[in-house]
Amino acid sequence: MLQIQNIRKKFVTGDLTQVALDGVSLNLRENEFVAILGPSGSGKTTLLNIIGGLDRYDSGDLIINGISTKEYKDRDWDSYRNHTIGFVFQSYNLIPHQTVLSNVELALTISGVSKKERRRRAKEALERVGLGNQLHKKPNQMSGGQMQRVAIARALVNDPDILLADEPTGALDTETSIQVMDLLKEVAKDRLVVMVTHNPELAEQYATRIVRLKDGKITGDSMPYDIEEEKNAPLEHRNMGKSSMSFWTSLSLSFNNLSTKKARTLLAAFAGSIGIIGIALILSLSTGVNDYIANIQKETMVSYPVTVDAKAFDLSSMISMGRNNTENDEGAASHRLDGVYSDPRDIEMASAMTTSLTENNLTEFKKYLDNSESDIHEYIGENGIVYSYDTKFGVYTFDPEGKFVNTDGSTLEDSKNSMAKNMGAMSQMASEFINGNFKEMLPGQNGELISPAVKESYDIIYGNWPSAYDEVVLVVNKNNEIPASTLYELGMLPSSEYKEIMDKIKAGEEVTAEQQKWSFEDICNKKLYVIPACDTYIKNEFGR
Ligand code: ADP
Ligand code: MG
Repeated sequence: MLQIQNIRKKFVTGDLTQVALDGVSLNLRENEFVAILGPSGSGKTTLLNIIGGLDRYDSGDLIINGISTKEYKDRDWDSYRNHTIGFVFQSYNLIPHQTVLSNVELALTISGVSKKERRRRAKEALERVGLGNQLHKKPNQMSGGQMQRVAIARALVNDPDILLADEPTGALDTETSIQVMDLLKEVAKDRLVVMVTHNPELAEQYATRIVRLKDGKITGDSMPYDIEEEKNAPLEHRNMGKSSMSFWTSLSLSFNNLSTKKARTLLAAFAGSIGIIGIALILSLSTGVNDYIANIQKETMVSYPVTVDAKAFDLSSMISMGRNNTENDEGAASHRLDGVYSDPRDIEMASAMTTSLTENNLTEFKKYLDNSESDIHEYIGENGIVYSYDTKFGVYTFDPEGKFVNTDGSTLEDSKNSMAKNMGAMSQMASEFINGNFKEMLPGQNGELISPAVKESYDIIYGNWPSAYDEVVLVVNKNNEIPASTLYELGMLPSSEYKEIMDKIKAGEEVTAEQQKWSFEDICNKKLYVIPACDTYIKNEFGR
């Protein structure tokens, strides 16, 4: 149940202020088919975007299931959008280079769902909209009505409680419009559907309720819904948790060929460990899609900026080799049952890694970036191009037992080395990555210390954003946790204990680790010492 209470929204462009919504109040039932009718510019899209959490209201309140959204943080909105809302746009917003099936699969936000299961659900949604036999077509091989049906399947694949459609038939002829409307009516049987349209006939014929909007005000409602105030639960803020859609969506949008989370993490890991100086880019890859998708991309780019390193190898080809493997598992066997075959992929993969190692000419690349004529400027988002340096800091500290430790974990050498050894050929790079507990924060442009993109994507839970280069930010996950091994390395836990644990693991003994807790004050009061490499040497007897 949604309650829209006296919502106002204005847009300011230059010195022009446009009031889009002027005190709109509206209660929506859990299950109805609402059509919002109104002339162009009356605020229909704005209202829909606010209901769907794509845009924020200036004043008023949106109450979702009895809970006010006034205190909602970005991540609450993300979660609401991803788990409760499905969107259908007039312009379909399908990803052109992806098949129909991937377009729908991509919207599946439920983490921990296997690829097989995602595929199954996407197929099911497409069958529901009558496109079960068109799974492998690209959007540009389809008619407008079909594309809109794909968009509806995409909106439904998460089984949202609310489906929002902004002029879904605006670009369709009458006959196809009817097919799409029939489908929406069917969908509205067991959920709330809010559809914006400027076609009164379609609204009359299909919707169960018509709300009229003019100049940002409601001028008519065919079936108002009055809720007594006292029925509402006390308004409180509920954290709906962070959702994972931003990750998946942008992943496939921008890195079409790297389609697993693991691959992506690997990429970040190796890229970070090979290069000496890298160039981090935050691009906005969307051309005229909507703000929503642009935002998702931005968020992903903060965690995983495109980095170009001095040395690189072609990880994507290795990943696709690995992926072919799993795809074979699902499909038919590739050999007849007439003997035993070798699988040369392991060797090929190792070879692919070494032979694809390339040196990038960063000098030339930077020239290209600095040249304002370069094509790339068309695609660069608001955060522009940011350079960061993959410097290894020598950061030291004392552990609780007073032992001087190197926070890269090298104080715990024995255990680390044996761990790395087990990792085989990649151990060198991998262990180098594991050692990197400190990283320069992505700076902003024009000398800003921290990129606004970073600030938008993280919540400060204690203290302030750094105002000087010698300040450190401790990044925790959504549960306010830090991996125990990192805490040992950072000297928050005694290194002797870590060594003991590692020895036990080596000896095959069972180890249980207790969860521990620090207050914000304690953990932020930890003293760390940056020691430049040159200071770690002393002169020898020859004075050298
Ligand atoms: P509708 O969907 O009914 O055509 P909109 O909700 O798109 O109307 O727009 C309502 C009013 O708000 C219009 O006058 C429009 O110009 C203005 N408006 C909408 N979005 C923006 C924006 N992003 N920036 C500036 N003005 C906007
Ligand atoms: Mg509109």
